[in-house]
Amino acid sequence: MTFTPIVLVGPSGVGKGTVLSALRSRCPEIWLSVSVTTRLPRPGEVDGEHYFFLSDDAFDSLIESGGLLEWAAYQTSRYGTPRAAVEEKIGEGRAVVMELDVQGARQVAARLDGVRTVFLAPPSWEELRRRLYGRGTEAADVIERRLDTARGEMDFMEHCDHVVVNTEVESAVRELVKLIGLAASEQPDQRAEKDIHR
Ligand code: 5GP
Repeated sequence: MTFTPIVLVGPSGVGKGTVLSALRSRCPEIWLSVSVTTRLPRPGEVDGEHYFFLSDDAFDSLIESGGLLEWAAYQTSRYGTPRAAVEEKIGEGRAVVMELDVQGARQVAARLDGVRTVFLAPPSWEELRRRLYGRGTEAADVIERRLDTARGEMDFMEHCDHVVVNTEVESAVRELVKLIGLAASEQPDQRAEKDIHR
């Protein structure tokens, strides 16, 4: 059985983190790529679990050594996907999911055979705004910058292989499970129920 590697992309605040944690609880066998970033951890984020938090110098070294499958600057920080882990997990026949911004999705789509891009879309623009403010993790100016970026990100939707509208988490998860080629368990796995808010 081979699974389809997925790049999940969508505007900040659309609920990628919530959908991914629900997906993992349904399908604990999924391997979710852990990105490197130069941004500071948010409260509750754990190094090595949500991201590997790196200094600018360490990020530069990874780029120079070819250790990143892709990388991009987003707002005032940089984010990248460690190459070796992704290649290894695909080689092992694991179901691989990467959560990236639009720039990263473009790069991975061009570099990784068989990968499918999935755009997680909000039900409406107003709902996206409401979710970003409701999250309460960023200041208003940061949210407004993210909404500006989101306007551009929405244009990427038509270039993706699939669009999943995140009206309701469980139905979004069911669509993703089908795209990856997995079978979901009826009961969520409590151990994987951790919210990985991104
Ligand atoms: P956040 O700061 O909210 O965790 O993430 C900001 C943006 O960076 C999100 O759109 C997220 O999908 C994206 N992102 C996370 N990891 C990566 C990565 O490895 N590469 C790229 N290109 N974008 C990423």
